[in-house]
Amino acid sequence: MRILVTGGAGFIGSHLIDRLMNTGHEVLCLDNFYTGHKRNIQHWLGNPNFELIRHDITEPIRLEVDQIYHLACPASPVHYQYNPVKTVKINVMGTLNMLGLAKRVKARFLLASTSEVYGDPEVHPQTEEYRGNVNPIGIRSCYDEGKRVAETLAFDYHRQNDVDIRVARIFNTYGPRMLENDGRVVSNLVVQALRGIPLTVYGDGSQTRSFCYVSDLVDGLYRLMNGDFIGPVNLGNPGEYTILQLAQTVQDMVNPEAALKFEPLPQDDPRRRKPDITRAQTHLGWQPTISLRDGLERTIADFRSRIEASEAQSQL
Ligand code: NAD
Ligand code: UDP
Ligand code: UDP
Repeated sequence: MRILVTGGAGFIGSHLIDRLMNTGHEVLCLDNFYTGHKRNIQHWLGNPNFELIRHDITEPIRLEVDQIYHLACPASPVHYQYNPVKTVKINVMGTLNMLGLAKRVKARFLLASTSEVYGDPEVHPQTEEYRGNVNPIGIRSCYDEGKRVAETLAFDYHRQNDVDIRVARIFNTYGPRMLENDGRVVSNLVVQALRGIPLTVYGDGSQTRSFCYVSDLVDGLYRLMNGDFIGPVNLGNPGEYTILQLAQTVQDMVNPEAALKFEPLPQDDPRRRKPDITRAQTHLGWQPTISLRDGLERTIADFRSRIEASEAQSQL
């Protein structure tokens, strides 16, 4: 099959491309390198089944494909808040263009939505029926409301134009290839511990998140795309940790000497988040298999080798 992955040079997109290429598909990676990097897909350059297209999805594009995994959108609060108007354009105009493309070529379309559609949830754990508690005018809303409109567009193209859609609501995902400076909690804590500087905990660290290792997530996306269930479906690891517990785990695994540093909690930071994955279990036969410690082990090894390589480079 010919498969388009938008945002394919990013963290999740590049792992998904590895899976698709290794399964024998032809892959078109579309990216404008806003938060993605060529190094993430470098190993496929030159492979006849792989094509890299530099393009901004807020502009129309004509391609011929069988499936579209639509991931293009900055995912870290630091990046999506850097240019919030652009974040809205990516989610609205970008998703519209990709749905228009899916409609024209009759491709199956999978939207990478997010647990952020639940906002600061009053229902715990979050089921897909829950409609969310999102601040429409806050600093996170360019992303949260952007993804909610993206879901609306997907379902309207489905009802109005018969586009074959799949909608995944992805919960916090981590693993190798996260950007060192992307500001997300796992990358921040691991990099700080490896560099021997204090680990930043925002607020008192009692807020919770549930962390899914990237290979588990990719497996969920692949099953969703190739099954009959359109969703929306939560994809995440139901293991729930406070941020303080996460910081202490990283401290314990990397550098027990590292100090913790408490900083102000950002505005609208959700208090808690944990997926109910009954739908994914029932309809996709999916559930995560990698524990937080195992996943952190692999993530730490990846950051360690990247930091060592950049230090060696700077000493030349
Ligand atoms: P990422 O920032 O690493 O990847 C996003 C990719 O999209 C990057 O390669 C970036 O360059 C590209 N991109 C951004 N704007 C673009 C544009 N206008 N045109 C073309 N390409 C563009 O983020 P990620 O963590 O890999 O997330 C991928 C998707 O999964 C996103 O849609 C995100 O919202 C969703 N998601 C991620 C998480 C998570 O925890 N990582 C959680 C929920 C949802
Ligand atoms: N589009 C695209 N590639 C295609 C087909 C459509 O980028 O192969 C864009 C198109 O330019 C439009 C959007 O997708 O902006 C929605 O397309 P649709 O056909 O649904 O709407 P219309 O063009 O009728 O407004
Ligand atoms: N966080 C933290 N220290 C950091 C970065 C983030 O305590 O260095 C907190 C943040 O306030 C939030 C949680 O960790 O409560 C997850 O943040 P992230 O940006 O990774 O994802 P999101 O808020 O989108 O779930």
